Amino acid sequence: MTEQEKFEFKSEARQLLELMIHSVYSNKEVFLRELISNSSDALDRRRVEAITDKSLLEDGHELEIRLEADKTARILHLHDSGIGMSKDEVIKNLGTIARSGTKEFVQNLKSQEGDQTAELIGQFGVGFYSAFMVADEVTVVTRRAGESEATRWTSSGDGSYTVEAAEKEDIGTTVSLRLRDADPDNALPDFTDDFVLRSTVKKHSDFVTHPIKLRVEETKEEEGKDPEVTITWPTINSMKAIWTRPSSDVTDDEYNEFYRHISHDWAEPLDRVSFKAEGTFEYQTLLFIPENPPMDMYWRDAKYGLQLYVNRVLIQDRCEELVPSYLRFLKGVVDSPDLSLNVSREMLQQDRRLTQIRKRIVKKVLDALQYIQKSDREKYIKFWNAFGRVLKEGIVQEQDQKDAMKELLMFYSSADDEKLTSLDEYIERMKEDQDTIYYITGESRKAVERSPHLESLKAKGYEVLFLIDPVDELVSENVSEYKEKKLKSVSKGEVNLGSEEEKKEAEEKRKEAEKSHESLLKAIQEILNEDLKEVRMSSRLTASAACLVGGEDDISPQLERLLEQAGQKPPKQKRILELNPEHHLLGKMNALHIADDKQKLSAYAQIVYGQALLAEGSALPDPMQFNQLVTEVLVDAAS
Ligand code: ADP
Repeated sequence: MTEQEKFEFKSEARQLLELMIHSVYSNKEVFLRELISNSSDALDRRRVEAITDKSLLEDGHELEIRLEADKTARILHLHDSGIGMSKDEVIKNLGTIARSGTKEFVQNLKSQEGDQTAELIGQFGVGFYSAFMVADEVTVVTRRAGESEATRWTSSGDGSYTVEAAEKEDIGTTVSLRLRDADPDNALPDFTDDFVLRSTVKKHSDFVTHPIKLRVEETKEEEGKDPEVTITWPTINSMKAIWTRPSSDVTDDEYNEFYRHISHDWAEPLDRVSFKAEGTFEYQTLLFIPENPPMDMYWRDAKYGLQLYVNRVLIQDRCEELVPSYLRFLKGVVDSPDLSLNVSREMLQQDRRLTQIRKRIVKKVLDALQYIQKSDREKYIKFWNAFGRVLKEGIVQEQDQKDAMKELLMFYSSADDEKLTSLDEYIERMKEDQDTIYYITGESRKAVERSPHLESLKAKGYEVLFLIDPVDELVSENVSEYKEKKLKSVSKGEVNLGSEEEKKEAEEKRKEAEKSHESLLKAIQEILNEDLKEVRMSSRLTASAACLVGGEDDISPQLERLLEQAGQKPPKQKRILELNPEHHLLGKMNALHIADDKQKLSAYAQIVYGQALLAEGSALPDPMQFNQLVTEVLVDAAS
């Protein structure tokens, strides 16, 4: 006798199970889709693992799924000759839920009622536990390829399950469902009925690339003879890979089912892209852009990639060579009859044909995104909010497609409180005398919006792009022009606006102010010498007294902070302090300078510098000292 061990389900699993059991979800048949999907994955895995270890396929059994209904006992068996599970895998896979977003899903579900619950369950694609929508007891007997022992798992979905050693002749998994009584009036058809099984498979699992066979028992009765029972196993799915069918023959529902099958996502895809190449090197692709980012999108080690098939046989589940990492959100399939079926991962990595496919995929996907951007704004914004940050990594990585990438960029800007804008749209709004695209980088809209750097641009009515995503720092480093217009940071270098004449005039005025305050500027420079490389007069300020700017090629303080956070130590950069010649404070400082009040001038200079730091969202190097200085000046002014 082997020992039976009892385990409790982990809490999320228990909650989901409870929901399944009491579900009012009318579409209960999806349980079959989910179980077949698991079997199909297990069959794929056995094939793929067998590429490196041939012995895994040597028991002579076909890779297939078999449905067997016991009408009297009301038990439905699903057999697959897939990879199977070890005892540990059974406990890990069937006792917990690894699926991302489950917690949110369960919470969401609890706060909904009736119909909405149903809809959400349908979207979630509930996996193995959906079996409990139709069964009051589920038994799994499974044997892992490469192992001789099998494991039996049983549960009535009541919070616990048992696990024990079992016998199983063949490699693979059998899931047996003790079905509840059928109640077709209340959307619970009889899942031991051949017709019900056939039509359910046809509807949800037709494209599965492994045969799904149904045990059909026929009794022939002839007079004078004993009744003769014949058993056959017809294949009930067409196995027609969806990507090989002309897209006009495939319904959206079919595409969505397939998307769910390969992505394990519960929502519908945002869009799909399919194309094929003919000629000396043939292949077909079917790609999906999801609607929501997966939880692991920003994990460094997260796996991504497309499924790679050779003539409809899966040889790699996540082939990274087929997509660049900035398109890692893509799901889909590439199928080529011209690759070798038994090619190893290492050989594939060196196959130049994969690079060729990847190039084409990049081009097609960027084209599709451009099309959405132009034709369906709402959809594009949805995409951008979900994946814009990832796509922007491509600006740095992809030199080939840089122009296309630039077109896809979206930014917030001073033109609108909420709406995003593309560079093309910015150009359309540019003022007549404006020849440059202006932007400001910073940590948030709030931080940049009121920055003194924008003052003269605001006065001119020029729009400024807000680059407020951390990766925007890299974007701005890599995009210096667009459609023959320069992109310029308003906090770097000199900013002169308007017509040539206006620019000249402003520059002359600035130079004049600089000349008449030469000695003051020098004195301030000496006071702040440790932090500043230059003190000069500004033409970009209208209201503020001062601001800090960088040299044309300096890195911005935001990038400096990012690099520091990433553990790097960028060399400390001295900044440039620009003063507003029209500002009252300048007159006051000049008076102090002429009166040779060194102490007070020093306090003023340090306060002005501190304020300029605060205005751009930088931290004060010594807030206590800053406070002290301000207090001193206030006390002095009051007395
Ligand atoms: P998902 O399929 O989304 O991962 P499920 O709850 O449906 O979630 O299944 C959990 C896990 O159990 C699967 O990821 C797989 O590892 C394992 N599993 C389920 N069914 C089978 C099967 N027929 N053969 C092998 N492993 C399976």
